[in-house]
Amino acid sequence: MLAMTVSRKGKPHRRGLLPRLLRLAMRSSVGAITGVETTDPVVALSFDDGPDAVFTPRLLDILERHGARGTFFMVGEAAARQPELVRQIAQAGHAIGNHTWDHPSLPLISRDERLSQIPACAHVLAPHEQRLLRPPYGHLSLAARLDVRRLGYQLVAWDQPAQDWRDIDPTAVLARLLSNIRPGSIVLFHDRLHAFEDPRFADRGAAFGVVDALLARRAGAFQFVTIPDLLRHGRPRRGYQSAPPDLAFLNQLMTADGQARRYPAAPPPSRVEAILSRMGV
Ligand SMILES: [Zn+2]
Repeated sequence: MLAMTVSRKGKPHRRGLLPRLLRLAMRSSVGAITGVETTDPVVALSFDDGPDAVFTPRLLDILERHGARGTFFMVGEAAARQPELVRQIAQAGHAIGNHTWDHPSLPLISRDERLSQIPACAHVLAPHEQRLLRPPYGHLSLAARLDVRRLGYQLVAWDQPAQDWRDIDPTAVLARLLSNIRPGSIVLFHDRLHAFEDPRFADRGAAFGVVDALLARRAGAFQFVTIPDLLRHGRPRRGYQSAPPDLAFLNQLMTADGQARRYPAAPPPSRVEAILSRMGV
């Protein structure tokens, strides 16, 4: 409902129409997709940070067994080590998107680096890459959003995170997903962890158990499709809000090769980001 006020000339006018139009324009131009408006029984599973020589083939078997297709947001550095696996994923009918070259938090790196991280990943994913970008850690800033758009990518977030980057209780995650997924949902899983708080979390066994059980329980109710297919079923839902990068969290992460990237400082809080956040962009 629109708030009505009385203007100086005495005529009522709609307060908030302009801000609402501006919010719509901002969301549709730089907002990240969290799902699709549809009543069709379709859901997209997405898998970040891969491919992984050990875990990804196990996931491909699970998806195949249930006749499900997924979307893999790959890290360029990992894809460069597994070109045959990248080809195999594409050939099995899954979609492949860009998750940068080596998984930096986009607001915390320079514009020049953003403009090289994304094409470097695209280069190793070619010719299988779709122009979809998942921001590492889900971190975004207005500058990062504009750079992604300028490179010709759609930003894709999620509405259902499995939170499988940490120690999870698979039963609780499954129960949450079973009750929360709805037509048009995008679910976030990982088939590899680029960086982790504890090496134990890198094991994908628990997360894949959830994928398997989710597909077994919902394969009759939903069709599990790629994100490009999902987008054919309706208008994208947008309105993903990025959490501010947490330096203490990022700076304690490890990778399989040792210490993950260290960030010296977060950019000062900006008025523009605060306005965008209030707009739900
Ligand atoms: Zn990631």
